[in-house]
Amino acid sequence: MRIPMIVGNWKMNKTADSVAAFVDGVRGNLPDGRQLETVVCAPSLFLEKLVEHTAGMPLEVGAENCYFEDNGPFTGETSPYALSKIGTEFVILGHSERRKIFRETDEMVNLKVQAVYRNHMRPIICCDETMGQREANATVHWVVSQVIEALKGVSEEQARTAIIAYEPSWAIGVGTPASPDQIEEGCYLIRQTVADVYDDEIANEVRVLYGGSVKPANINVIMQKPDVDGVLVGNASLEPESFLELISNDP
Ligand code: PGA
Repeated sequence: MRIPMIVGNWKMNKTADSVAAFVDGVRGNLPDGRQLETVVCAPSLFLEKLVEHTAGMPLEVGAENCYFEDNGPFTGETSPYALSKIGTEFVILGHSERRKIFRETDEMVNLKVQAVYRNHMRPIICCDETMGQREANATVHWVVSQVIEALKGVSEEQARTAIIAYEPSWAIGVGTPASPDQIEEGCYLIRQTVADVYDDEIANEVRVLYGGSVKPANINVIMQKPDVDGVLVGNASLEPESFLELISNDP
């Protein structure tokens, strides 16, 4: 059984004060992690405090990115080794904003996936899809190739713990998610690709998320799709009230 997951992606939208207020706002109201896993991913500069403040709470902490070397002359980058040392459990990798704005390639995403595993954390690998690709019927090729490239060199044992998100960039931050059928199609495609690269058993263990304009009003219908194990949420994860509503709407 795959445990459903709700992952907040705060992006560049918080200050130290609002991070502390979020933790106070959700404290005591989160579900048992064995039934529903909840994660918040924050900019690196808040992670150490976030790990400290959430100690003992069923709320896990993730980074939004990292570099692929553990240390060295990489001014301004975040070491995956240092992230793991402060208790970071997940790292979002290959988000469409990083692929587009910061020109991250599949090869870089793959090196980062390996760095995250090497440092005993778990990657949340994002697969993007633009409206142009959808309209050109390139969705299958695009999503499949991102999964294959991201998992290169990843062992079977590591792959079992991967989290992969279908995040069409045309549905991110716009208020309207992809349709439930489009969401299932994308998530099914990801799981089938994992089955092709590894096997059915591993594909059945990997958790596949959907991301793009998920909010309390639409989470139920999305989570009911058979290949959707959870959601990656930007805007609606920022305030504690909205985060708690997402959780209480989970079927
Ligand atoms: P959104 O962002 O929920 O604000 O659309 C999702 C994401 O980018 O992960």
